[in-house]
Amino acid sequence: LGAVLALGLAGCGGDGAGGSSNSADAAPEDLTIGVSMPTETSERWIADGAAVESQLEDAGYQVDLQYAGDDIPTQSQQVDQMITQGADLLIIAAIDGTALSSQLDAAAAEGIKVISYDRLIRDNENVDFYVSFDNYKVGVAQGTALLTGLGLLNEDGSPGTATGPFNIELFAGSLDDNNAGFFFNGAIDTLQPFIDDGTLVVKSGQTEIDQAATLRWDQATAQRRMDDLLTRSYNDGSVVNGVLSPYDGISRGIITSLQNAGYGAADKPIPVVTGQDAEIASVKLIADGVQNSTIFKDTRLLAEQAVIAAEAFLEGDTPEANDTTTYDNGKKVVPSYLLPIQTVYKDDIQSVLVDSGYWSADEVAKGQ
Ligand code: BGC
Repeated sequence: LGAVLALGLAGCGGDGAGGSSNSADAAPEDLTIGVSMPTETSERWIADGAAVESQLEDAGYQVDLQYAGDDIPTQSQQVDQMITQGADLLIIAAIDGTALSSQLDAAAAEGIKVISYDRLIRDNENVDFYVSFDNYKVGVAQGTALLTGLGLLNEDGSPGTATGPFNIELFAGSLDDNNAGFFFNGAIDTLQPFIDDGTLVVKSGQTEIDQAATLRWDQATAQRRMDDLLTRSYNDGSVVNGVLSPYDGISRGIITSLQNAGYGAADKPIPVVTGQDAEIASVKLIADGVQNSTIFKDTRLLAEQAVIAAEAFLEGDTPEANDTTTYDNGKKVVPSYLLPIQTVYKDDIQSVLVDSGYWSADEVAKGQ
């Protein structure tokens, strides 16, 4: 019966009961916001979903939060259902940035505004706003952390005392996620001068993003690729000195592969491995000196920006962007609000992650 009723309401279209064209007159309690998140396999999305949900509820709105299990058809269905059930606004972190066009068209037809959350939805003009971090800078920070870990740079950015040459390998994220290219490009732009002068050697020769990519950002996939790289390119007694990794789950896959191959023993140091998201298991690895670093992006602040943008739209206003040039989704440049990022090395865990209440000292010690 609920579904029939919902369909009936959606059929009325944009009358305040479903769709949002008249939402400016409605009380928050009468408005529902659909929040579509990609997966619960990574902590950050659980934190994002929880933060968006609780902040919206604090502002008085009804929330329909759904996770799609990293399955593209599931996400499409969930968003379709939010629309037919009369959502007044959508906040979406897409699995595949190009797969939601028919949903966005349906939303626009109902007057429902769409906020693209962290990952830009591509190839559709009905993306009304984008909240994210400075994703190119994430990549620059990852490349810089790799150089710093190898001793080629000091933490203040000045040249370090190491000379190389160092063997490195490169990993990228899932290519259907618009962020993956920004991360990889930022990192490569930072590393390229050192590759060009021979200080860094990508021994496998796999320097292109499609060679380095990791579908669905999957840890096991990354572990298998690292196994493969070690077998194919390092069976001559040479060692890997550093690995560019775009995300902590991928970093842990890489580290497991390296440890299985004997890295981490006294005579064979674990390579410098970068990361992203400050996942608790990786924060512990950083505290233990196993993973080099991670990039912290405060999901509480991202949720806050999404909620500010949602409120603006629902009150009939336009949210304030702080970037109107960077994020072209193939159809338009989407007005964006981008937040800053922070590199976390071992010495920064306390000040950046614990003092801000993101993780407790106890969680860091336990790694969970
Ligand atoms: C996010 C990263 C995250 C990755 C994998 C990206 O879109 O920006 O923070 O590590 O997805 O979940």
